[in-house]
Amino acid sequence: MNKNKNMAREQHEEENALVIWNISNCPIPVGHDPLQVVPRIQTALEKLRRDRPYGSLSITAISDNLTEIPGEDVMRKLSSSGISLKHAHALPSFSETGVQTDLYQWASRNPPPATIMVITGHEELEHLASTFSGLEEEGYRILPTYPQSNPAPPSLPKLCFWETLLSDADNKLVTTSRLIFHGTGGYPWSCSVCYFDAPILEDFTNHLKSETHAYFEWDRFASKNKIDRTNPANMQLGRSEEWDLLAKPDMMRRAEVLKLRGAFAPPRSRPVDANSFKEPFKSGE
Ligand SMILES: [Zn+2]
Repeated sequence: MNKNKNMAREQHEEENALVIWNISNCPIPVGHDPLQVVPRIQTALEKLRRDRPYGSLSITAISDNLTEIPGEDVMRKLSSSGISLKHAHALPSFSETGVQTDLYQWASRNPPPATIMVITGHEELEHLASTFSGLEEEGYRILPTYPQSNPAPPSLPKLCFWETLLSDADNKLVTTSRLIFHGTGGYPWSCSVCYFDAPILEDFTNHLKSETHAYFEWDRFASKNKIDRTNPANMQLGRSEEWDLLAKPDMMRRAEVLKLRGAFAPPRSRPVDANSFKEPFKSGE
């Protein structure tokens, strides 16, 4: 067998792994070192290993409010240890954050056998149950991980508790997994609300604090809640130059479309007060 065939066989015998971590639902408990998250995850994976050694491993932490949870200092530590960061719109349920898309995207590039660990609250895990069983049928192994304080729902398979995983300092265990520093979309830092990928962490945190990001967050909230975005009174105009630059043309375009559609426009559903929107990074106020 020639060298290339040997290499291909060796690669095939390895098993790639993906970890998707909802850091809003499963924050790092007080007293745990953020720099230890990667080795602890690697240890947990190693202990749950099948017969094949691991190949590449990608870890992405997702939150609707990264600059607050975990905060910029921890964001820096997680990034420096090789964890990708992704902003998603408010996370009432994982299924609304496009995580399914992330899972399928990764699966399309990483054929089974492969392992996917999803760290989040049990409600989100239950939302993803059908996605998981579809992936399992294709030969992927799913490892749901969630906080111990939650009652274990009977619908979930064998589980790993988040706190147990973080406390297991078994440093003797050697892992074969090779951490690769990019998210499922290929970039270490991304905002799925604005479709923004950042080349460096500083650009990413600046983006999350920008008016452009705030506008697109609001726009998504407004769309979800059927707020009339053709009414200037709802558009928070005058908030900043950057905001107005985005909001005004959007509003005028929508008004034009509405005029064109006229009577054929679909009926409006339940109106929601535009002021009920809370910016995630100002939620503590
Ligand atoms: Zn954004």
